Amino acid sequence: MKEESLCLYAGYTPGNGEPRVLPITQSTTFTYASTAEVSKLFDLEAEGFFYTRLGNPTVDAVEKKIAALEGGVGALCTSSGQAANMLAVLNLARSGDHIVSTGSIYGGTFNLFAVTLKRMGIEVTFVDQHASDAEIAVAIRPETKAVFGETLSNPSMDVLDIERLARIAHEHGLPLIVDNTFATPVLCRPLDFGADIVTHSTTKYMDGHAVQMGGVIVDGGRFDWTASPRFPEFVEPDASYHGLVYTQAFGKAAYIVKARVQLMRDMGMCQTPQGAFYINLGLETLPMRMEKHCANALRLAQWLSGQEKVGEVLYPGLASSPCHALAQKYLPKGCSGVVSFTLKGGREAGARFIDALNMISLQVHVADIRTCVLHPASSTHRQLSDEQLVEAGITPGMVRLSVGVEHPDDLLADLRQALDRA
Ligand code: PLP
Repeated sequence: MKEESLCLYAGYTPGNGEPRVLPITQSTTFTYASTAEVSKLFDLEAEGFFYTRLGNPTVDAVEKKIAALEGGVGALCTSSGQAANMLAVLNLARSGDHIVSTGSIYGGTFNLFAVTLKRMGIEVTFVDQHASDAEIAVAIRPETKAVFGETLSNPSMDVLDIERLARIAHEHGLPLIVDNTFATPVLCRPLDFGADIVTHSTTKYMDGHAVQMGGVIVDGGRFDWTASPRFPEFVEPDASYHGLVYTQAFGKAAYIVKARVQLMRDMGMCQTPQGAFYINLGLETLPMRMEKHCANALRLAQWLSGQEKVGEVLYPGLASSPCHALAQKYLPKGCSGVVSFTLKGGREAGARFIDALNMISLQVHVADIRTCVLHPASSTHRQLSDEQLVEAGITPGMVRLSVGVEHPDDLLADLRQALDRA
């Protein structure tokens, strides 16, 4: 099936007389006839639902749909995008280990890496994703467990050279984790370019209607965990499952099964059946929404670039963008819906502009069908020092515009009148 059809049909096939729409299995638990059957489930010798933290039919259908869209062997839904990125890393790294991440990433992920993982004993080195191969490789240490980046970075809209980063990671026996939130599998499938693990905040375009928090981890299934001595937890017996060895028992799906049965079991940041139902509704219309988000964003980015009061416009779909060549390679269908730009009048002009908007609302969010704006330096990236802000590609006067699916003329009219008053 092509992606429009996968978005509708992957993950759930009703039988005779069953609901056409994915049903919400609103049950925390599932019954069995014998203790022998339940024991097999607990020993991972049989597949089946027994407790919603570890698996639920509604959540399972959404996981299968997203895995199909990304071209992975399996997926694990989480309660938020933050949980997805945290689990994706913790499934590989423990205290004493190290991660290499690009610097221009979402502020929440930056905090997770720079503060919380550090407290847990996992160090993260941030690198400039446009630095040379050698400069990036220098950050890799014997205890490094992964390289991390965002396909389209939030909010600087940098495009990740996925093939290059994957090559550098693989040369050192490391997997590449790519947060594909802004692109969605409709615009880019990182696994096709050599990434090994993909994460998402499903709260963004996948839901798309600003109704449901969520995250997901997708396993590409191609990384060989046995080939490198860096990943003993994949090849040595897990005492919490009577000595089970993940790579032997689950082959290509070792990573995603381990994330579920070890980390989701113990940490419990699971998606709910109701939440998965909402995400599924969003996924059903994802391709047509992304087309409109991309078209509207390009039109607004082009208009903003011609305005006297506007400085830099960050949108890789613009021919003038330094990331345009990368965008043509990785995002040929469009560069998603976020346009970041700087007002020449700085922080104050940014505030005046945002306060003057009418239809476009101020929201700590992106990827909604309704257009919204935000001032990253005073909100999402507030915890970052000026130095870290620059590393994340943000200036104090930067405005992040998340372009929705309204008629572009209405959006332009609102931007024009607000700019007049900025
Ligand atoms: N990754 C990216 C690229 C994001 O933009 C966000 C949130 O904005 C997250 C992860 C975190 O996701 P959530 O807000 O669902 O926890």
